[in-house]
Amino acid sequence: MLRRTLQAAARRGGPLRKAVERMPSARAAAGRYVAGETVGEVLLATRILRSEGMLVSVDRLGDDVTDRAEAESTVQAYERLLQELPEGAEVSLRLGALGVRFDEALAYACAERICEAAAAAGTTVTIDMEDHGSLEATRRVVDGLRFGYPATGAVVQSSLRRSEEYCAELSHAESRVRLCKGSFPASSDVAFTDREEIDRSFVRCLRVLMAGEGYPMIATHDPRLLEIVDALRIIHDRPYDSFEYQMFYGVRPDEQRRLADSGARMRVYVPYGGNWYPYVMRRMSEHPADLRFLLRGAPT
Ligand SMILES: Cc1cc2nc3c(=O)[nH]c(=O)nc-3n(C[C@H](O)[C@H](O)[C@H](O)COP(=O)(O)OP(=O)(O)OC[C@H]3O[C@@H](n4cnc5c(N)ncnc54)[C@H](O)[C@@H]3O)c2cc1C
Repeated sequence: MLRRTLQAAARRGGPLRKAVERMPSARAAAGRYVAGETVGEVLLATRILRSEGMLVSVDRLGDDVTDRAEAESTVQAYERLLQELPEGAEVSLRLGALGVRFDEALAYACAERICEAAAAAGTTVTIDMEDHGSLEATRRVVDGLRFGYPATGAVVQSSLRRSEEYCAELSHAESRVRLCKGSFPASSDVAFTDREEIDRSFVRCLRVLMAGEGYPMIATHDPRLLEIVDALRIIHDRPYDSFEYQMFYGVRPDEQRRLADSGARMRVYVPYGGNWYPYVMRRMSEHPADLRFLLRGAPT
């Protein structure tokens, strides 16, 4: 119930959002999950993580754009960021920030420019997966980008009933595939709604990806699933550099360090920007215990 309320709050704007954004405790709590509002702040966080042996994927937070000018400003922000990213850091990108909801061709053209800037900087882009309404458009854009930029990362949400099939399609040589449970609830005809079903689907997807020829990027904080990853690594005799773990900035940092110290590739997803409200509310909905940070403010 609390989860659903927080998920709904994450989607909604209006007075609730304005009130939360103004709460000093909420801004302080956001600092737990978000590396700052400026490029300078996210670069500092990235450098610190790199010095601790972590890989990084930087995400620029923002609402869905509603016109071409806003999509252009997203492109320019990513181009500037990519010029300064240190080695070992890539970017994550939401197509909603490039206009996919009103013009798929525009989103494609903008994403292609960001992939070009990433290639020029010697790094890669992963295209986040959003709600089910933009799934097919996102899959088409990623497929297209991979012709010119084969290292473009795709995302599969195990909450979707067809996730295992998507993993099989994407599990070819050099294919970078992020597997996550998924942050966006969808109706029961297309998605599992029971958390245990989503977890079982995650394990089926993991088996496909770890047995395949691609490069799995396993995005979870779930201790049970992390144990299964390790078992599959041994079963498939996968070297540590043939896959990576991914976790959010500020979530289970000790586990992130443990994995990095064990020789695994550990990538931290580092968001930055002023539009932190939907992202932070989604994190709270997934782990309602963290609401105490919102109410109390001080990160630990
Ligand atoms: C790097 C990364 C990229 C992602 N990209 C996408 C994407 O493109 N599209 C999309 O829809 N979703 C994406 N997700 C979101 C992800 O699918 C959701 O966060 C989802 O709820 C899964 O979280 P979980 O696997 O950690 O499992 P959960 O079921 O949320 O948690 C399982 C267990 O993990 C531990 N845990 C989880 N959160 C915390 C916490 N805050 N503090 C301490 N312990 C915790 C707890 O032990 C918990 O019981 C991404 C997630 C990550 C980490």
